[in-house]
Amino acid sequence: MTTEFDYDLFVIGAGSGGVRAARMAASKGKKVAVAEERYLGGTCVNVGCVPKKLFVYASQFPELFHASKGFGWSADETPTMDWAVLRDNKTTEIERLNGIYNNMINNSGADLFDGRATVTGPHQIEVNGKGYSAKVILVATGGWPYIPEFPGSDLAISSNEMFFLDELPKTAVVVGGGYIAVEFAGILNGLGVETHLVYRGANLLKSFDREMSDKVRAGMEDKGVQMHLSTQVNEIVKTDSGISVVLDNGSSLEAGLALYATGRQANTAGLGLEHSNTVVRPNGSIVVDDNFATGDPSIYALGDVIDRVQLTPVAIQEAMVLVDHLYGEGLARIDYGDIPTAVFCQPELGTVGLGEEQARAEYAEIAVYVSDFKPMLQTLGGGSDRITMKLIVDSATDRVVGCHMVGDHAAEIIQGMGIALKAGATKAHFDATVGIHPSAAEEFVTMREKAR
Ligand code: NDP
Repeated sequence: MTTEFDYDLFVIGAGSGGVRAARMAASKGKKVAVAEERYLGGTCVNVGCVPKKLFVYASQFPELFHASKGFGWSADETPTMDWAVLRDNKTTEIERLNGIYNNMINNSGADLFDGRATVTGPHQIEVNGKGYSAKVILVATGGWPYIPEFPGSDLAISSNEMFFLDELPKTAVVVGGGYIAVEFAGILNGLGVETHLVYRGANLLKSFDREMSDKVRAGMEDKGVQMHLSTQVNEIVKTDSGISVVLDNGSSLEAGLALYATGRQANTAGLGLEHSNTVVRPNGSIVVDDNFATGDPSIYALGDVIDRVQLTPVAIQEAMVLVDHLYGEGLARIDYGDIPTAVFCQPELGTVGLGEEQARAEYAEIAVYVSDFKPMLQTLGGGSDRITMKLIVDSATDRVVGCHMVGDHAAEIIQGMGIALKAGATKAHFDATVGIHPSAAEEFVTMREKAR
């Protein structure tokens, strides 16, 4: 422990990245503090990944009830959805996780401050009216939903509020074409809400392989989501029964809520960073180097607040690299290439590596393998879902540079593919791998015919 500072490390923000850094540093004998003003576990645990996935599960039951009939099941009553039960059970589970985070921090030996910490100068923090000094300050304050300003934008809600709605609306309008928009459109639709998705672009999930994002759009439409692509919202007006979302094509959608999923911005407002040499971009995110050092030698930052890759597992890896840099050998580096990711829309999308468009731009010649088939559940279940899988191979080296899947369990399957790509697997390695039969995943090792 240092004697000149109150703490070796003072972490602002108890989300995925901040807590991991705090625990790892404490386990190395460092004197650590964590300050959190809102909820332990950050966005992921409270208003992100975890409650979202619980809602996705909830929204999938109607299709399973339907499929069960073909397998011989019958239920006397028509299933109904009680939103309050789902919402409150979800909240109970999140509170359990908050408790686990509390224990993890306390058991690590770190001091936990319940309050808003601000930077008052290099090495200086203030929390709950008291000043502290730290050799290193880590800003891990995450992000916050961004809603553009326009007439009636105050009537729109963000994903934060979706987790605590008093009741489900009959009709909902979701605005945006990214992760959160498509995920919530699927949740609402599955829970029985008439769902409209309004997106200013022509193609949803534009950073993903186009063929796969087209499959997602088609699958969502098939399940009942009403798409309004290449469409903007002009204004939102309050009505007697709810709201009216006025579109730029002259039509309007009467709804109970408008969810804006139009990106998230770094949480740095009012943090006091102007009292340091930290450099902040116009969008509020903090500029850091390879070791997550800011322009101020006493301040580091990681996770959503640096606006590189807004994913929980990335923030956790960044925390491991930082702790190695500060208190270990300093050799660890984060590799932002080949990060597997999944969008929990319905149908689900899982992906690792390059999309076909990116691969064509990067490699002289590629081979593309595509498999599109009906999942076995549907044979008796009678649904119209399909599964699409795609491999993109660099012809010069035979290395698989992109692996994509749309359909049930895409996230679970692509995680393993991520290891293969990380290990530099070639198409020959995929071909030499024995399939697991019967499974959807085996298609990845049985694709022989080039699609292109
Ligand atoms: P995204 O950046 O993924 O998508 C934002 C969407 O909003 C884009 O389609 C964008 O359109 C649109 N948009 C932005 N500004 C406006 C505007 N002024 N008017 C109309 N539309 C606008 O952000 P999300 O909010 O969906 O999610 C934030 C991040 O959180 C994600 O990028 C992801 O990293 C993370 N996340 C990860 C999840 C997962 O791992 N499963 C789940 C949820 C979130 P355009 O494309 O035209 O720019």
